[in-house]
Amino acid sequence: MSTTPKTAADLIRQEDRFGAHNYHPLDVVLSRAEGVWVWDVEDRRYMDCLAAYSAVNQGHNHPRIIAALVEQAKKLALTSRAFRNDQLGPFCEEISRLTGFSRVLPMNTGAEAVETALKAARKWGYQVKGVPRDRAEIIVFSDNFHGRTISIVSFSSDEQTRDGFGPFTPGFTIVPFGDLDAVKRAVTANTVAVLIEPVQGEAGIIVPPEGTLVGLREICSNERILLIVDEIQSGLGRTGKMFAHEHAGIRPDGMILGKALSGGAYPVSVFVADDEVMDVFTPGDHGSTYGGNPVGAAVARAAIRVLEEEKLVENAQAQGERYRAGLESIHAPALKEIRQIGLWVGLELEENAGGARRYCEALRNEGMLCKETHTHTIRIAPPLVITAEEVDWSLEALAKVFKALG
Ligand SMILES: *Cc1c(COP(=O)(O)O)cnc(C)c1O
Repeated sequence: MSTTPKTAADLIRQEDRFGAHNYHPLDVVLSRAEGVWVWDVEDRRYMDCLAAYSAVNQGHNHPRIIAALVEQAKKLALTSRAFRNDQLGPFCEEISRLTGFSRVLPMNTGAEAVETALKAARKWGYQVKGVPRDRAEIIVFSDNFHGRTISIVSFSSDEQTRDGFGPFTPGFTIVPFGDLDAVKRAVTANTVAVLIEPVQGEAGIIVPPEGTLVGLREICSNERILLIVDEIQSGLGRTGKMFAHEHAGIRPDGMILGKALSGGAYPVSVFVADDEVMDVFTPGDHGSTYGGNPVGAAVARAAIRVLEEEKLVENAQAQGERYRAGLESIHAPALKEIRQIGLWVGLELEENAGGARRYCEALRNEGMLCKETHTHTIRIAPPLVITAEEVDWSLEALAKVFKALG
């Protein structure tokens, strides 16, 4: 009974009429993609400089990842964890090799893997550290983004993120991002974990002060606290290292991955840790119907092979530096600060520049898709397969827009 809508305007109307209004997307309706490029329903081409919040680091429609998806889907898609499947073992071993942690717990979305880490940390606190029942505390940072569940928004410092969703889960202490003294003051005998994004993505590509992770490592080791890094957005090559915490040369006690773990083809996330932490989980404690399913496992293995064999981590480093050099030569008065680490750039605009949204809309008109984060920051995070020529192309679009609006 449904008629097939054709134009972008029809599709936008339909989505707005029947969909929940929990997003404010740019009005571009995409229908196909390849590499760093996406096309809308009217066949206009754009460069994707968001890469689905770094889920498509390997580029859209990567042929090897899509082949793994299709092949596995034809053979066996889902068993649940009630039975075993022939993809889960190879997946876990591969992730263990990649991350250097002995055990892997597969989930689907990032938020689920964060919840898994929180549950692991609490249970480790009770069983291993000896924290009294229901008293575990976890230290987190201001301006964090770890997902959207009730427990995760319970420790957000963003008013809108929390507004209307209480009552909240207790047991979290928020301290200013990168403030080691505040962390020390927040530690109690019941502290079980510190949870941190090694670089804050949603906050606008914020690198903590030099020495933050090293200092946290020291505090956590001294006080017997787990240091858990959320590398869902910062991991898998985005910052020019496989994992952002490698810049600090530390080893955390647990790590959360998602997004690019599947190269955008399928939701796959993991929490990884060593035996002392992961062994707190026993059968029936925790799980997910789709977690560790054969399609996700096969897709993730292909996505990791692409990152490694195509040297995308190295390319992120090189092209990120190219962006920085190019941006520094733009000299736009509206541009207050350029933050860059690897292929992750935050352009902080002056307060009087009229907000990042109008820049993103102007960039879209030039064929470059970016999304503002908060009011005054443009985030540039294209797929890591981007070439030098493509970086230069987007720098030209940026220069043109800064000139026109600025
Ligand atoms: C995106 C993101 C999450 C949440 O992942 P979802 O798959 O959207 O649930 C958690 N932490 C960080 C750092 C993220 O960027």
